[in-house]
Amino acid sequence: MQKQNFFQERLTKSVGQFDITGKTLLIPDMSPFGSRLLSSSFRAYGVPARVMPTYTGLALGKEYTSGKECFPCQVTLGDILHFLQEEKNRLGYDFSPEDYVYFMPEADGPCRFGMYNKMHRLVLDKFPEFEDVNITYLSATDSYSSSMIMPAEKSRLFRRLAYVATIISDVLDRVVWRVRPYEKNPGETDAFMDQALREMQNRIEQVGETRNFKALYSLLEDIVIRASRLMDPDMPRRPRIGIIGEIYLRTHPQSNQYLIKEIEKHGGEVVDASLGEWFNFVAYTNLRETKRLWRRAWKEKDVRRLYKASKKWMDYQVEIRYQLWRQDQTYASATRHLDIEGDHRIASLEKQLDNDRLFNFDIGTEAAISIGGAMEYVHENYDGVVNVFPFTCMPSTICSAILKPILLEKKIPFLDTPYDGSIQPNRELAIRTFMYQARQRQDRRNKGL
Ligand code: SF4
Repeated sequence: MQKQNFFQERLTKSVGQFDITGKTLLIPDMSPFGSRLLSSSFRAYGVPARVMPTYTGLALGKEYTSGKECFPCQVTLGDILHFLQEEKNRLGYDFSPEDYVYFMPEADGPCRFGMYNKMHRLVLDKFPEFEDVNITYLSATDSYSSSMIMPAEKSRLFRRLAYVATIISDVLDRVVWRVRPYEKNPGETDAFMDQALREMQNRIEQVGETRNFKALYSLLEDIVIRASRLMDPDMPRRPRIGIIGEIYLRTHPQSNQYLIKEIEKHGGEVVDASLGEWFNFVAYTNLRETKRLWRRAWKEKDVRRLYKASKKWMDYQVEIRYQLWRQDQTYASATRHLDIEGDHRIASLEKQLDNDRLFNFDIGTEAAISIGGAMEYVHENYDGVVNVFPFTCMPSTICSAILKPILLEKKIPFLDTPYDGSIQPNRELAIRTFMYQARQRQDRRNKGL
């Protein structure tokens, strides 16, 4: 009983939402652009955030887990352990654990993402020197509101900046995927985009707190113009491949063994589902849930609950409209100069579920947007769909079970790519075969067959 109380206290007191002002916020690397622009957004608001080096601690992550955990949980655990150990070695006696806060967001069930930060707490506690490194999170349940980790006057404004920074990172990704397969000189796109990322980080840190979004859009436009000059306009268009799947695996190149570059190497042009899609989905599902609560309160004639639900309903409506408005503005800065793919609207992903015949948003998880996203790719005439996920991931396994027979019937190449950190000898062969099928489909399409 005493032991149980001790764990409970650790999981509530050392994992929580508390003011992070003045602490070094340690952000795990996920999407290379997304994580860095998020960290710049925190810095713009005076939080010295940094993205930790990634994948160098995978052996540690595996050592302190049983093998049943989701792969992203192992990778991020390895990142934080490795970082703290290196930091302790570097600083020696000056290392002071209470100066750091580890950032591990969460979502509610039914899958296990909500438990990563608790599990990481239990492992960090095995190292007495890391017991005082607190863990903080933002949660999907309140649409990743930062009101508990920052002073109230900053929180709402920070959230807006973080959202726009996320959409900018989506656009930068889409620029890379549109330009790199057609670059005149191999390697030029990546080199240029590294430099562009640094420019955008500096700009966010300079003007982010004043939310001078025009200054961010104008730099984005300039980056897109310069990137588009790297393309050879005479190269024929390649088969387009749409990626869906678990958000960490599909955006973390080290964990997915550089899948996008591998597909490009075999002749494809790729579009991966965006980060913005997840944030819009969270707001959309919170709105759906509020509508449900409102209807129940109406039925039961409960005025107090009815008032509460109406207010929340309004708040989510405003939030969704704001997000879509900012998303459109950000994409427009790029599409004036380069024909990158636009992002899917969550409402149209829901429609793609064919009146709930394929899946239902009420079940939740990323499966809803992945299945809807794959159907959108079909609708937009993509030549293949790839499902990227951690080995044993529940929502992605559901996606695979639903999508495989449908895409087979529609004669659209489909590839499942599960990852757990091991190198699979047949992976390259599977991608090569998949791309051969995608090229055949493109040929058929071009001939109008
Ligand atoms: S989405 Fe998949 S990988 Fe992520 S927590 Fe759920 S089961 Fe694990």
